[in-house]
Order: sequence, then structure tokens, then C-alpha cells
Amino acid sequence: MERGFETKASSVLPSTDIAVVGGGPAGLIAAREAARRGLQVTLFEEDEIIGRPERCAGLYSIRGLEKIGVTISRRYVQNFVWGCRINSPSGAVLEVSSPTPVAVVAEREAFDRYLAEKALASGADILVGRRVVSCNIVGGDKFCEVVFEDGSKLSSRALVIAEGSTAKLARMVFTGYNAPHWLPTIQLIVRKHGLERRKAHIWFKNYLKDFFGYLVPINEEVGKLGVAARRDPLAKAYRLMREEMPGSKIIGYSAHSIYRGPPLEMGLDGNVLLVGDVAGQVKATTGGGVIAGGICAKAAASHLYSYLEEGRRGVYRRMVRGLYRELRAIYWVAKTIDSMSDKALDGLIRVAGESGLSKTLSRRGDMDFQVTGLAESLASPAGLRFLFGLLKTLL
Ligand SMILES: Cc1cc2nc3c(=O)[nH]c(=O)nc-3n(C[C@H](O)[C@H](O)[C@H](O)COP(=O)(O)OP(=O)(O)OC[C@H]3O[C@@H](n4cnc5c(N)ncnc54)[C@H](O)[C@@H]3O)c2cc1C
Repeated sequence: MERGFETKASSVLPSTDIAVVGGGPAGLIAAREAARRGLQVTLFEEDEIIGRPERCAGLYSIRGLEKIGVTISRRYVQNFVWGCRINSPSGAVLEVSSPTPVAVVAEREAFDRYLAEKALASGADILVGRRVVSCNIVGGDKFCEVVFEDGSKLSSRALVIAEGSTAKLARMVFTGYNAPHWLPTIQLIVRKHGLERRKAHIWFKNYLKDFFGYLVPINEEVGKLGVAARRDPLAKAYRLMREEMPGSKIIGYSAHSIYRGPPLEMGLDGNVLLVGDVAGQVKATTGGGVIAGGICAKAAASHLYSYLEEGRRGVYRRMVRGLYRELRAIYWVAKTIDSMSDKALDGLIRVAGESGLSKTLSRRGDMDFQVTGLAESLASPAGLRFLFGLLKTLL
């Protein structure tokens, strides 16, 4: 067993300041930040190994990583990406390219382990192979008691629920918890994709109505191909691979789900907080939640310090207000794209290329604050040309 990652039941203290449930990015960042503030933090992860099973494309913006306090490191970076190539249903292409890298492709297991080491170095305890089965909130918000599979208990002054898509504890603690926007996702690791390694590749297809298909290259040869769909995501992923990457071979496979809804308004105050996917802190356009969840995890840690040490309320909600506004707007954009016909999508992508909007997006676009970046781009001369062209196409 590695130093710092304990599994023994005896290593569970009878009490701690903050219990964090879930050792994904959101839980690990919350643990790191709370421990940095001098709070005693114990994180519980049900899997034996942090970061496994790996089921993420690992595409994180460089700006976003800075915001969540994660240094770019060879330890987890597989590739750098300079932009994206968006393919319309009829084959029109929109290229958005930057002169410098805008995102990294991360190996998710290595990324999570990197975050875990930072949390440990800040003073947090991480216990793996420890599944929390329930929690009791005692005396209003006096303290919490987390209960493990073997019946043992730990009391804490605060609880951070960062359990991802399972949302079992969230449902237990928050009456009316409801997050119906999960979409089954398949990710294939493919060899010989034959596509440009410096771009993320996106396809809108008539058989991919619930989401787009993507390839995130790890290098010239290998990449992560993903499809999310309510029905038959695996068959659709095979089809996309055959059509767009003929001659490629599958060398790995994972199935999970992505969240495509708006952020949830609960778990943002008091001493029991929700962070990450379980709180819907995800960009609904792409299902990407590592940066948004990380920003919120930092805010949650600030909140807990203020709440526990100074008795102040409302810090978490205040700190995420701007991001939540953005995530709600992104959700609205995602719904609009989902409702568009193939013809309208073709027109949108073609006109964006012809009007020069793609060049403006390269300069002003933001992978995480997509609507803000888009609004700024639309306010430019190219943006106005785009809007005018789009109007002509649609009318
Ligand atoms: C195929 C795919 C591709 C993706 N690609 C990207 C991408 O390129 N970029 C991006 O930003 N996002 C991407 N995402 C989304 C991203 O993976 C999530 O937003 C992110 O993992 C959310 O982090 P989290 O910490 O909230 O939850 P999770 O990463 O799901 O972590 C939750 C953890 O809690 C643990 N847990 C759950 N219940 C308990 C319990 N009761 N006791 C103890 N432990 C428990 C789980 O084992 C898990 O380790 C992708 C998702 C999928 C499925």
C-alpha cells in the first residue's frame, strides 16, 4: 500500500472537522483547499485506487486548470490541444485554432492521483476502499455522522458530498433532490485514428441526436472516441468509428454517464454541501465538469472555513453565483443545439466558417465560460456577419 492512502478501518478517526465523500476531482480539490486552511479533513473513496476506473476524455482548458490551482505536469498530460474541428451532419467543417495550446489531454487516473497527492500534502487524510453508506445530520446542523459498510461511524462538523453520478447520499440528505439529466456514455480507446493530434474533433450526425461524437487525440495514433446517447451508445460509437476513422482498432472501452442539466440550487449553504457532478456543476454542452466542479470545490472549502470558524453563512452560494449563471446559459445553448434540425446545424456551422467567426472565437472564446466567450465574439464585426448570414440561411 502506498504511503498516505490508508484502507485500514482502525485508521478512521472518531471525529474530524470535514468528511468528504468521493475521491474524484471535486472531492479531492475540496479536501486540498479545506486542509490548506488548517481544517482537519478526511476523504473517503469507495474504490481501492484513486482515479480508477478511468472514464473521462481528460480534456481540460489550460485557463481552467489555473483557476482550480492545478499546475500542468508531465505526470498526467498526454497531449496538448490547440483548438477544435467541428463537423456538421452534411460534412461542413468549422475549425477553431489558437496559436498556442488551449487545453491539455489528461490521463484521468494520473490526474486524480496528482490531485490526491496535493490534498495529502496539504494535510488531508485520504482513505480508499471506504464506502459511506449513509449519513445522519444531527441536531439541525450541529454535526454529521457518516456511516460505513461495516457499521463503523465517524462524526464531523461538516460534510462535503462529492459522490458523482451515484447521488445516493445526496438523495438521502436533501429532500426533493432530483437530477434527471444523465446520459449513458461510451468511450472507446482507438488506435490508428488518422486525425490531427492537435485538435479535438467533434461530429454532429443524424444518428447522434442526444449529443455529438468526439475524438480527443492522445497522440497521432491513439485517441479517446466518445458517444453519449439515450439508446445504443455502443452501436453508435462503432458506427462513428467506422465512418470517420476507417482502419482504426479498439484497444480499450468504458461506459459511464455524463450530466447535461443545469446546476442544482441545493447544497450551497450550511455544513452539508454538494460539489461536482452530484451538484450538476457541469457544462451541459459537453458534459465536462472537472473545471466547473473544481472551481465550486474551492468555493465550498472557503465557505466551510467561514462557516465553521467565523459563523458566516452564504459564502459558497455567493462565490459560485457568476459560474452558475454561466452554466445555466450553457444549458440553454445545449438545449437549443439539441433541438436544431440537421439542416439548421449545417447552416450554423457553414456560416460560422464563412463569416470569420471561427477566427474571432479562437481569440475570444473560452472553453469553460462558453456563453461569455460567444457573446463577446458575436459583438465583433465577424459576429454580426455571422448573425446576418445565419438569419438568411434560416429564413
Ligand atoms: C466518457 C466521459 C468523458 C468525459 N470527458 C470529460 C472531459 O474531457 N473534460 C471534463 O471536464 N469532464 C469530462 N467528463 C466529466 C467528468 O468526468 C466529471 O465531470 C468529473 O469526473 C466529476 O467529478 P466529481 O468529483 O464530481 O465526480 P466523480 O469523478 O464521479 O467522482 C466521484 C467519486 O466518488 C466515489 N463515491 C461515490 N459514492 C461513494 C460513497 N458512497 N462512498 C465513497 N466514495 C464514493 C466514486 O467512486 C468516485 O470516485 C467526462 C465524463 C465521461 C463519462
